[in-house]
Amino acid sequence: MAKPILLTVDDDSDVLRAIERDLRSHYGAEYRVLASDSPLGALDLLKQLRLRNDGVALLLADQRMPKMDGVGFLQEARDIFPEAKRALLTAYADTNAAISAINDASINYFFLKPWDPPEEHLYPQLDDLLDDWRASYRPAFEGIRVLGTRWSPRSYELRDFLARNHVPYQWVDVELSANDPETSRLLEALGPETANLPVVLFPDGTKLLEGAPADVAQKVGLRTRAQTSFYDLAIVGGGPAGLAAAVYGASEGLHTVIIEREAPGGQAGMSSRIENYLGFPAGLSGGDLARRAVVQAQRFGVEILSPQEAISVRTEGSYRILTLADRSELSCHALMIASGVQWRRLEAPGIDRLQGAGVYYGGGATEAISCKDETVYVVGGANSAGQAAMNFARYAKRVVILVRGESLSSTMSQYLIDQIQRTPNIELWAHASVAEVHGVGHLEEISVMCSDTDKIERVPANAMFIFIGALPRTDWLTNVVERDDRGFILTGPDLLWEGARPKGWTLERDPFLLETNVPGIFAVGDVRHGSVKRVASGVGEGSVAVQFIHQYLSKV
Ligand SMILES: Cc1cc2nc3c(=O)[nH]c(=O)nc-3n(C[C@H](O)[C@H](O)[C@H](O)COP(=O)(O)OP(=O)(O)OC[C@H]3O[C@@H](n4cnc5c(N)ncnc54)[C@H](O)[C@@H]3O)c2cc1C
Repeated sequence: MAKPILLTVDDDSDVLRAIERDLRSHYGAEYRVLASDSPLGALDLLKQLRLRNDGVALLLADQRMPKMDGVGFLQEARDIFPEAKRALLTAYADTNAAISAINDASINYFFLKPWDPPEEHLYPQLDDLLDDWRASYRPAFEGIRVLGTRWSPRSYELRDFLARNHVPYQWVDVELSANDPETSRLLEALGPETANLPVVLFPDGTKLLEGAPADVAQKVGLRTRAQTSFYDLAIVGGGPAGLAAAVYGASEGLHTVIIEREAPGGQAGMSSRIENYLGFPAGLSGGDLARRAVVQAQRFGVEILSPQEAISVRTEGSYRILTLADRSELSCHALMIASGVQWRRLEAPGIDRLQGAGVYYGGGATEAISCKDETVYVVGGANSAGQAAMNFARYAKRVVILVRGESLSSTMSQYLIDQIQRTPNIELWAHASVAEVHGVGHLEEISVMCSDTDKIERVPANAMFIFIGALPRTDWLTNVVERDDRGFILTGPDLLWEGARPKGWTLERDPFLLETNVPGIFAVGDVRHGSVKRVASGVGEGSVAVQFIHQYLSKV
């Protein structure tokens, strides 16, 4: 924890040095002593300290200073750090001014110069003041703070990114907490820069205006560039399948890298509670699973580049070469595509305009708490929608699940249906689909098409979360690996047509079970044609594929 600060201000450098020395020798173990020779400079410094969330315990200023006297300084400083104790250093001749300052300007104490010996004339009084200050001092949050507004898509994107990458941060909604004095002081310290939300404040005192995930990633040390140019195994996608392959590959000696576009964990990372993964009888959150898997992979030396995206691949002899979004390249002997699937877009007027401002695809883990006491709509009838509804029901006043069909029974697991039925603030609206969404700046209402009555109903809504199935995004692999008509990658036996090996295949063996039509390029998990869309099956495929990779590498 950073030490709280004692700040002393005096334009006379001899006096400043003397008071600084005495403060440091007595309080240096517990406090950081800062000194400034100008009241205006000291006010600037206080604004910086406010942005860094530092604690200031004491302001000690000389009364006689040019441009601004001690009382003036302490009065202005009070607006920035109202909780700090304020004391004046005065000459005997200024005693009257000091006494009236105590009354008029709420100054806590005044010291006469010289204060020798400090054991008698300085420390006992300061000890009292600092004891007082400590009694009501609550150490401030020391990590990253994000200032923004709930309905800003950029703020949402950034918070989602930080949460999914397990970067701890404090969220300050400047609209919701507009009346909070702490927020007002922060905004004042930022001045005109408040126009550039979201603003990210780092504990080292630096800040990012209009912070974008990639900039923040760099700043917090997430790695986006590969350390070497060649790997035994490169894995595109850090979901359960990719992470499992990395753990098995690296633990068996393969020099392994994962390239992940958003955050390790993939879709599973968005799940509020996975209840059917073996070994976790009470269930576990996707975020927790992802965090554990990342630690496990890193323990075996896996390099994880995130956020980073693979945008194309080519083969040169036995090398598979990936181009990444920043145009850098890395090559490998074995390439694994574990890029999963992404949410299908909902086609309805208004959706794109309000995305990130009340309309969200997927779990919106960061949004659940913001939905406290509100009405939330969940669109979709699969397990992911059911889990999300259960999660939102902990915070929202009312959760409405919209499904096109007449019930959930054909699309959702029975254990989730049972949980939903037992949860009083979840309602099912069957035969319903979203016709349009409305709102200025953020979602306010949705129009729902009711297929049983052929009528459109317009209802108020604070937030809408869409879970309407997913498709792979594999366009970047066009003309490299064979895919089905929906973009899922074909592997192993799916590539054999009436016993014939795929076009261009030159090896004296069939493609391995999880191998594509390009030797040494494998596909696992949800992106694979015919895969079972489950965490356990992705993990299983990722680990099994490593066996085939060893066989492949033994002949490269
Ligand atoms: C909300 C929700 C709840 C779920 N609950 C359960 C459950 O309870 N039980 C269960 O068994 N299953 C559940 N599932 C399904 C399960 O999460 C998936 O089957 C599983 O995550 C698939 O793993 P994967 O590794 O194949 O792909 P994904 O998890 O989709 O991961 C793929 C990763 O690849 C990345 N990527 C994509 N393209 C690129 C590229 N070009 N470059 C770099 N990176 C790229 C993506 O960003 C993503 O992180 C749930 C899914 C969701 C969405």
